[in-house]
Amino acid sequence: MKKITFLLAIMPSMVFAQFNFYGPQPFDQILDNSFSTSWTPAPISTIENRKYIVILDQATMSNVVNLNASNIETIEYSLISNITGASATYSSVMNSIFQIVDENTHFENDAGGGSGTYTPLSGLYKVNPLMHSYYNLNADANFEANATDGGSVYITEPTNTGYLLIEFDGTASSTTIKAVEQWVYNSTTEALEEVTSWVDRYLMIDNGTLVWTTNSANASNFYLADATDLIDIEITSGSDYNPLNVSYQPNATAAIPSNIQTMEDSRIITSLPNDIATVLTGQLGNSTNATSVATQVLDIIETTLTNNGESLRYPKAFYLAFRENMLSHIISSSDVYNGRLGNNTVEHVYFTNESDVNGNLHPFMVIACHATSTRPNLLVDVNRPPGAQMGVGYAQSTVTRNGKLGKFLIKIPLKDYGLISTLLDNDLSAYGDLATDFDASHGTNTTKDEYNYTGLASIGVAVDGVTIYPAQNNNLRFAVEDAEVTSSGIHVGGGLELHYHADGHAFNGNGINLYNLFDYQSNNHPPVIGISYDGIALFGKYEASFSSMVGYGIALDDFGGHDHGDGFGYHYHAHTQSITSSSAPNPTFDEHILLVGAWKGNINNIPGFLEVKDNQLMDSDIGKYAGATSSIVLDVEDVDVQNSIKIFPNPAKSFVKIIVEEKSNVIVFNNEGKKIMENNIKAGISEININDFTTGFYYIKVSNKKGTTTKKVIVN
Ligand SMILES: [Zn+2]
Ligand SMILES: [Zn+2]
Repeated sequence: MKKITFLLAIMPSMVFAQFNFYGPQPFDQILDNSFSTSWTPAPISTIENRKYIVILDQATMSNVVNLNASNIETIEYSLISNITGASATYSSVMNSIFQIVDENTHFENDAGGGSGTYTPLSGLYKVNPLMHSYYNLNADANFEANATDGGSVYITEPTNTGYLLIEFDGTASSTTIKAVEQWVYNSTTEALEEVTSWVDRYLMIDNGTLVWTTNSANASNFYLADATDLIDIEITSGSDYNPLNVSYQPNATAAIPSNIQTMEDSRIITSLPNDIATVLTGQLGNSTNATSVATQVLDIIETTLTNNGESLRYPKAFYLAFRENMLSHIISSSDVYNGRLGNNTVEHVYFTNESDVNGNLHPFMVIACHATSTRPNLLVDVNRPPGAQMGVGYAQSTVTRNGKLGKFLIKIPLKDYGLISTLLDNDLSAYGDLATDFDASHGTNTTKDEYNYTGLASIGVAVDGVTIYPAQNNNLRFAVEDAEVTSSGIHVGGGLELHYHADGHAFNGNGINLYNLFDYQSNNHPPVIGISYDGIALFGKYEASFSSMVGYGIALDDFGGHDHGDGFGYHYHAHTQSITSSSAPNPTFDEHILLVGAWKGNINNIPGFLEVKDNQLMDSDIGKYAGATSSIVLDVEDVDVQNSIKIFPNPAKSFVKIIVEEKSNVIVFNNEGKKIMENNIKAGISEININDFTTGFYYIKVSNKKGTTTKKVIVN
């Protein structure tokens, strides 16, 4: 008999032996990783718009032009071993890559009325650092080469601004670099203006520095090597990200709205701490204290759910690991119009625990983020970005090639609401779904499936705080069939906010994606890379080179998820699916999926489902779930400020401590109001043993000559 008890006691830990919880290495840390390559420079095929180049000195081929990693205005001239040597890092390589972008790339469609004719390319280029696409090659007051802000919201701040327009005279194997115009920001007119005093100047290597000279005889010759041989950031025609060979669309770029705030002025940063309940503010930001308070709140949530006969969907350790990873992503690229270098992409991750009018608990993990990425997005390279204008054909529409910050308060349900059995068990009538939306404008009657029975906007969020959309767009085609995402699977739509449609890691494995192969080392399951709005976690794809990972052989269902039977529960994985395009010539391609679309988690009872923006805090029905008010009681909180009585911890297990300033009488009632214990305590700290209490609610009444305080305490 004794033996059986012993076995039962150890069984749970055996059944629930799970994989370890970890998120991907953030991009700012990837930059410090070593980069190994057997690269031999080869020239770009032709000097043309949007080519990524490494600029070498043609005479010796032993030096490169690069951006200083810590001072992004500084252009340096360094040894090629910076890229190819043993000390090369992702940072030294990526800071040696520039993109040449024709000055007319973003210009107007036909001003005459949108016939679909465009300003032709001029052959004059801006030279932009890969790491900072809002910066451009320029010349400082002493005509030394530098890099300056050429048009982000922060252009009002630096002393040096603007860009040069460059002409390449020669071939990629040997060319001079001539700056024919200089443009600078005018703070009075708030516009970039041409510097009229500028005369043609040539880039010249002068004792290891790069200067602009008016003497053409002193111009140095440069070699423009193809940077995509070094790191794969290209989408070639016919590849999985452009299976239908969609050509580059010359449409004008949609203007950035003029009223955009700086990141510091974002409500997520400025007023959120005042807009949510005081008791929740201890969880804000990224600190040891915040983690400790968040852990405590998660404990309370688990206890209250357990007392209701309910449970968290996943172990607390999972949510805490997820939170920690989300708070570690730092903006490391000037590539979103108002993204600030060095800021976190996710400001806060905090837990709430509120009940609806029927007393049902709906705890959430609230993610306050800007939906901005940490890395270069290469939005200019998207062949066919979404149109930005309603009511005009694509040829006449401006298109989306700039990103701006969003203001998200994403609520991830913590409670296990169960799984659906069949697709239509989830009722999306209140939200709309892709198939119904498509039918409404096309007069068709599409069969609902896992790809189209899903939300019209974001359906989940990645660990870097960028939202995830369904694999298919609102034309019920995979986003890659329309060649509308970058090599990292990201793009912006009409709202200019970044979101993923596809898995960049599976597409190119170049090491600078949301997650990467080196994340897998020393782990026994792929990394957690996001979470869906139904509360189901999203992990990276299973890799053949890590076939011993937990769950490797367990097939994914049509929703992209599986259950290892190890107690963790159902979860999604990024995965690759072979698809035959329905568009001629019907190519077959590998669709690299982050989230399929349809939710497997039961969403029918989740309050405020698909409400993900900061305006929720104003909503009198669902604001509380985002933290507008809170009924959480933390264990060190004063119960009665005037009387300075403290009762903690709450929930409690084996003892309750009470701090009073004078001698008091303590009575404990059970949840039916029956007195089960009475004691007199002295001023100071006292401990009540509750080892014999059954789990549930109790009331502790403390009385002294200053007054009486009663507190509800949970015993678990
Ligand atoms: Zn999209
Ligand atoms: Zn798995």
